[in-house]
Amino acid sequence: MAWVSDDGRHESYLLPEFLDGCLGGTSSSGGVWATVDAHGAAIPYSDWQRRDRGEIVGWVLRCDERAGADGQLALEPAQTVELGRWRRAPSPAAHDPGGGWVYAVDDDAVFVDELPDVAAVIEAIVDVHIEKTASRARVRAAAAASRAASEALGEAVRSARLAGWSWTAIGSDVGITRQSARERWRHLDAAPSVGDEPS
Ligand SMILES: [Zn+2]
Repeated sequence: MAWVSDDGRHESYLLPEFLDGCLGGTSSSGGVWATVDAHGAAIPYSDWQRRDRGEIVGWVLRCDERAGADGQLALEPAQTVELGRWRRAPSPAAHDPGGGWVYAVDDDAVFVDELPDVAAVIEAIVDVHIEKTASRARVRAAAAASRAASEALGEAVRSARLAGWSWTAIGSDVGITRQSARERWRHLDAAPSVGDEPS
């Protein structure tokens, strides 16, 4: 099971973790295989190792980040981040998905994210992760808009100066003092026109 965000930028999924630190994936034959080594690197397909479900000691929630630096969606994830970890609880009484413990018999251990209470905890974590990423993207977008607006204002001031308007008039339009306007945009004045007020 995987959780893909509406914009396709995030694909989150749970991988079983084995006793030796390798992470698993499933194959169409229904077996469980070690597909990621203990250092987090993907194991080549030809080297996948078949594992026993009894070797599963926990689970790792990962997210593939598909948004590239240019804001486009990348075919291959730009990076993969870890969002959470659970240990395999020794008994049903120790089952506490919100506290990091999941109890699962061997038959359930591979697809433990299909247990409703585990899925609910994962979905909450994924939602927080997506909003956290989106909030940063909003700062970048607002900063870009702010820069564009600042450039547009500078251009408008430059043309107003060329048309002969005083720093007093321009400052009044912007909502700042004549002095502040002059200090901020004086460099835009190519050549002060005759009859301009003294600097
Ligand atoms: Zn993500």
